[in-house]
Amino acid sequence: MDTAIQLTTPQLAANTQRFANSYRWLIVVLGVIALAFSTFLLPMPRLDLRFLVLAAVMMLVSSYFSVQIPRVNTNVTVSDTFIFLVLLLYGGFPGILLAAAEGLCSGMRVSKGLRPGKKILIVAFNASMMACSTMLTVGVMRYAFGPLTELRSHDLSFFIAAIGAMAMVQYFSNTGLSAILIAIKQNKSIWRAWHSHYMWTSLTYVVGAAVAGALASGIERAGMSVLFVTTPIILIVYLTYQKYLNEIKSTSAQAEQAERDRAEAERARAEQAERHVEELSRHIAEQERISVQLQESKDHFRRAAFHDALTNLPNRALLAENLKFVIERAKQHEDYQFAVLFLDLDRFKNVNDSLGHSIGDQLLITMARRLESCIREVDMVARLGGDEFAILLDGIPNQAEATNMARRIQEKLQSPFNLSGHEVFTTTSIGIAVSSTGYDDPENMLRDADTAMYRAKAQGKACYEVFDKGMHTHAVYVLQMENDLRRAIEREELRVYYQPIVALENGQLAGFEALIRWQHPERGFINPSDFIPLAEDTGLIVPLGLWILKRACQQLCQWQWQSPANRSLFMSVNLSGKQVAQPDLVENIRDILDETHVDAKHLKLEITESAVMENAEMAARLLKRLKALGVQLSIDDFGTGYSSLSYLHRFPVNTLKIDRSFVGRIGEAAENIEIVRTVISLAENMGMEVVAEGIETLSQLAQLRKLKCQYGQGYLFSRPVDAQSVSSWISKKPHWQESLFPGAGDFFVPSQPAAVPSPVQLRTA
Ligand code: C2E
Ligand code: MG
Ligand code: MG
Repeated sequence: MDTAIQLTTPQLAANTQRFANSYRWLIVVLGVIALAFSTFLLPMPRLDLRFLVLAAVMMLVSSYFSVQIPRVNTNVTVSDTFIFLVLLLYGGFPGILLAAAEGLCSGMRVSKGLRPGKKILIVAFNASMMACSTMLTVGVMRYAFGPLTELRSHDLSFFIAAIGAMAMVQYFSNTGLSAILIAIKQNKSIWRAWHSHYMWTSLTYVVGAAVAGALASGIERAGMSVLFVTTPIILIVYLTYQKYLNEIKSTSAQAEQAERDRAEAERARAEQAERHVEELSRHIAEQERISVQLQESKDHFRRAAFHDALTNLPNRALLAENLKFVIERAKQHEDYQFAVLFLDLDRFKNVNDSLGHSIGDQLLITMARRLESCIREVDMVARLGGDEFAILLDGIPNQAEATNMARRIQEKLQSPFNLSGHEVFTTTSIGIAVSSTGYDDPENMLRDADTAMYRAKAQGKACYEVFDKGMHTHAVYVLQMENDLRRAIEREELRVYYQPIVALENGQLAGFEALIRWQHPERGFINPSDFIPLAEDTGLIVPLGLWILKRACQQLCQWQWQSPANRSLFMSVNLSGKQVAQPDLVENIRDILDETHVDAKHLKLEITESAVMENAEMAARLLKRLKALGVQLSIDDFGTGYSSLSYLHRFPVNTLKIDRSFVGRIGEAAENIEIVRTVISLAENMGMEVVAEGIETLSQLAQLRKLKCQYGQGYLFSRPVDAQSVSSWISKKPHWQESLFPGAGDFFVPSQPAAVPSPVQLRTA
């Protein structure tokens, strides 16, 4: 058997290739020498027909029969058996030539398809290598065991030893030469090349040599017929072996396929894992991107949560946070002081109502910027909502610093705001709370500053007030009062009192003014001026006002029907500014009139100058609607507020009530009478009636009568009294008539209602 090298490595490094080729050429040269030597020494006479048959069979077998060893790039043939056989039968030199011929054939076989140049070198190398290795075997055998053809004549043990030695020498020399080439080509050691390619093939040499030995012995004894008998056996064994190897090959191919599948699966798994990792990394990157975005939007929400969208100022929440911080600092540092200024724009509602919300918004924004321009960098301006702002003054030397700041703000607000072409003036009421009061909670401090601000508003607006504990007590009192007032209606603690309105011509009772009284269970009798403002602030005035109106109308109806002489009596009822702003006021009044059967013309509604002027346009519309209802309208406390004569002209008012502050000034000598005279003549010119309030003295009465003031009201005639007290004298001649109007005729004719002239008739007569 022999081993043929199949050079299929696609690309060898240039020097490796060169080195390998040099080695091949060296072997070729050595092979040629061996062949030349062998040819020269060939014992021609011994080469008989038998030799030629052997040579022919071997070449046939070598050309067509070979077994590819799975996984190893090597072919195994049975030609070694023939070479051994020739060596034993014909000696070394024929064997060397046959080996070269075998190398030639196997070289042709393995170099099929290669380019001609390469093919020649491979064929020459294979042939030479076989010649060289066999030459070496022949030399060793001759030296160790004597001529090869005579080995059969020795005893069996010698023969076996020689056969074994021949197999080994041929094995090592043949595979050794081959391994050197592999080592050069694969750049590894000869040992490793030999070990991985040829180690296991020793058996085939041994078997080959043994078969050759047996055949040689057989031929000696039985002639060439042995060869004919054994050759088919060898072929059968060979073919069986080939089949076995093919199976191994197929199993091996399957294993390789399985291995490839496994490797493919592994690769697919690895790729999938890689894809998974990539996916994961993308996911993580995406998560990171989202978390970054979240952090952006978080900042946005935080800003939105702590800032006012309109003015961009910090809001109440942020102010409270900062207050918390400074409160803590003040606890730790005795010298550290701070203050909160609570600001509320005066009459901001007017701006909104008259110029619209957009201008109102502009005012707030401009206001915010002005306030910012007043403060230091360490301070903070916040918008608390609506028209309320607050300023935190951080680290001030004393309380005076806070009041100075309040003054500075009020100075700054003296110049008008120019808003979309409108010049708007505004003032602000400021409440101040200082840290020396001692605070634990930001809300308490803001509450106190707010309380002080309300006090400033009550003082007449456009001013500031510093909070003191008394204010808190008062605020608590007010809160208590508010709660009490809510319950007062249900508990029937409220009463309506009536004060007569008198015709000054003759002292006749013309009507009444309904005035509310509160009989508080603990505080006793409470005047309206002490709770009406509270009722207005809390909105309680709306239900309260309707309740009074209804009561007064019911009472008027009762009195009117008590006596025919009373049919023309009227009832004056006060309407607060808050009620005037109620959209359903007219409907409510109509319902009450319907319910109480009072003729609308007998109801007079008193509205103060300031309530009307606060929103003159709206008041004008409302008064017209009330007028259309048939009720009469009076302007109360005339002369105390700000009145625009042009507006007064447009209001459908029947009566002006001269405030008692003017009447009260009229002295014995008719001094200070000018304002009263002017109002009376103004009313006369505008076709209105006049009621003088607060007549307390005879001289006041005399002066007013002299000025032809139509009606009067005051303690001189009667204080406001309850309904029962009125009922006791209403059907009789009024008690003041005799004493105060001695010269005036008696108009009291209870039994003839038709003849009773109305106060208006009296005046025009
Ligand atoms: P007003 O509407 O101007 O009522 C006249 C006030 O003058 C009454 O005070 C009356 O008692 C008082 N008065 C009348 N004659 C004299 C006098 O000769 N000398 C003095 N010193 N006072 C006199 P009152 O009842 O305390 O009411 C005060 C104010 O409270 C009222 O002024 C009115 O503005 C408001 N008010 C009273 N009742 C009601 C009500 O039912 N609804 C509303 N919205 N306001 C009311
Ligand atoms: Mg009044
Ligand atoms: Mg009045």
